[in-house]
Amino acid sequence: MKIPGYITSILETLNGAGHEAYIVGGCVRDAMLKRTPSDWDVTTSAKPQEVQRLFRRTLPTGIEHGTVTVLMGKQKAEVTTYRIDGVYEDARHPKEVTFTSSLTEDLRRRDFTVNAMAYHPEEGLRDPFDGMADLEKGIIRAVGNARERFTEDALRVMRAFRFAAQLSFSVEEETYAAAKELAPNLKNISAERIRDELQKLICSPHPETVRELYRAGITALILPEFDLCMETPQNNPHHCMNVGEHIIATMCAIRADRLLRWTMLLHDIAKPETRTTDEKGIDHFYAHPEKGAETARRILRRMKLDNRTIKRATTLIRYHDMRLGNEAPVEVQIRKGMHAVGREDFPLLFEVVAADNAAKAPQLKERKEKELRDLREAYERVVARGDAVQLSELQVSGADLIEAGITDGPEIGEVLNAMLSDVLKRPEHNDRAFLLNASQLKQYRNAAEGKKNHGGRE
Ligand code: ATP
Ligand code: MG
Repeated sequence: MKIPGYITSILETLNGAGHEAYIVGGCVRDAMLKRTPSDWDVTTSAKPQEVQRLFRRTLPTGIEHGTVTVLMGKQKAEVTTYRIDGVYEDARHPKEVTFTSSLTEDLRRRDFTVNAMAYHPEEGLRDPFDGMADLEKGIIRAVGNARERFTEDALRVMRAFRFAAQLSFSVEEETYAAAKELAPNLKNISAERIRDELQKLICSPHPETVRELYRAGITALILPEFDLCMETPQNNPHHCMNVGEHIIATMCAIRADRLLRWTMLLHDIAKPETRTTDEKGIDHFYAHPEKGAETARRILRRMKLDNRTIKRATTLIRYHDMRLGNEAPVEVQIRKGMHAVGREDFPLLFEVVAADNAAKAPQLKERKEKELRDLREAYERVVARGDAVQLSELQVSGADLIEAGITDGPEIGEVLNAMLSDVLKRPEHNDRAFLLNASQLKQYRNAAEGKKNHGGRE
C-alpha cells in the first residue's frame, strides 16, 4: 500500500512514543480497492492531550470525541484516539465517548465492515470484522447487528446506499432489511447531513441508486416529491418510462457534475402535479418546467443548498424544455435563452437537453438529435457574431440616455430593457446611432411606458 510520507511520519512519531497507531476507515478501504483516498485518517491508542504534545502544529477539531488534526507542512490528517461510543441520543450523536486501549473495540464502533479495517506499514492489515471478504464480494454490511447500528445512528442508513453507489457495491440483505425498517429515524438527522449523503449518491457513478432509496422507503421521507414521480405514468408518444424512471435515466446520461445531477433529479419534479389526460388518453404536462422550477426551489431550500446552486439549477429547470418552436426564429429563441439563463450557464442547457432526449422514446432519437444539433449551430452563430444578450452589451448606456434628456431613474432602466428586448429580436439594431435616433428612442420610451401600464407583460 502506498502511504504518503507525512502519514508514515505521523505513525512513526506515535509508535516512537510507545503508542499504537494505524491508518483506518475510508482510506484503507479505498487503498485496498486501488482507488485514491480523499483523506487519510489515523487511529491511535494515544490520548488526545498526548497527540497534541507530540506534534508541533495541531488543531483541537473534535477534541471531546478524541479527534486532533495534525498539520504537517501543507498536509493534514485527523488523528483520533481509540474509542467506544456511548449511548446515542436521538439516533444522532453519542452522548459520551469512552477511550479504550483496544483497536478492535474502536473498529467495532464503525459503520460498515469495509470501513472498519486498519493498516500499519509493518504489521499489515487488521481486519477483525472481515471487511476484506466483503470488499471482494462487493457488499456493504453493517458491523455487528445491523438493526442496532442503524438505531444508534440513522445517518448510516443513507451512508449504506451512498457507499454502494460510489463503490458499485450492493447492500447486503440483512443490512438492507434493517435500513428499510429503521429509515423513519432519519427524521432525527439534520437536513444538511442528509443532503451531503444524497449529493454524494447522485454524483456517484451510480445515480440510479435513488431507485433503491425509493424501494427502501427513504425518498418517501427525504424527497416525497420523487415518490410521486415514480408513481406517475407518461402515456405520451415522446416517452417510454414513468416520470421517476425517466429522471433516473437522465441522471445516468449526464456527467457527474453537482449542478447538473441536481438539475436532472428535479427537472421533471412538477410532472405529477401538472399531468392532464386528453380525450385520446394521451398525458400532457403543461407548464411543468415553470412549475418545476418553483417546486425545485422549495426542495433545494429545504435541503439547505447554497443560494447560487439553487438559482442556477432552477433556471436550468425553467428552460430545460428548449426546443425549436415555430413562434420565433431559432436565433431569436437562442438569444432570449442566453439572456434568461446567462452566457455562462447557457451551454449547460445543451447537456441537459441531450440527457433529457437520451431518456425519451427511442424512435424519436434521430429527430431529437437533429433538433439539438440545429440549436447548437444557431447558438454558435449567435456567439460568433457577438450578438448582444444582456444590458451591458448594448451599444448605449444609462449615461447616454441622461444625455438624451431622460432624467427619471426608473425610466432609464425601463428604456434600456425595451432596447434590449428589441435587440434580442433584431441584433442589427444594436447600434448607437440607431438606438439613440430621436424617433427610434421615442418608440422605446413608448414601449417602456406601455409595458409598465400592462403590469410588465409584453
Ligand atoms: P469518504 O470517502 O466519503 O471520506 P469515509 O469512509 O472516509 O468516506 P468518513 O465520513 O470520512 O467516510 O468517515 C471516516 C470513517 O469513520 C469511516 O470509514 C467509518 O469507519 C467511520 N464513520 C464515519 N461516519 C460514521 C458513522 N456515522 N457511524 C459509524 N462510523 C462512521
Ligand atoms: Mg473520509
